[in-house]
Amino acid sequence: MVMQNHPVLNYVEKLDDGRFNCLFCGYYIAAEASDSRIKWHFSGEKGHGVPICDKVPEDVRGAVQFMLAHPIPPRVPICQNMIRDYL
Ligand SMILES: [Zn+2]
Repeated sequence: MVMQNHPVLNYVEKLDDGRFNCLFCGYYIAAEASDSRIKWHFSGEKGHGVPICDKVPEDVRGAVQFMLAHPIPPRVPICQNMIRDYL
């Protein structure tokens, strides 16, 4: 688990009791919640067991939606050979 370095943690405050407090709407996310739970909160997509954030800025929401859609960073082809290997 590499939660410490995850960008979504820039938008929550970790409380002394272990919970996370959303800096946009003030929603408390349970201490045992995974970072994907926090992402779903920001993503605006309902049905993932966490209320959605109605105050998250559009750019953050977009970035989080991208992260959820691409859990592993895509390889970026930098030359023809790599593009061929990539395909
Ligand atoms: Zn929120």
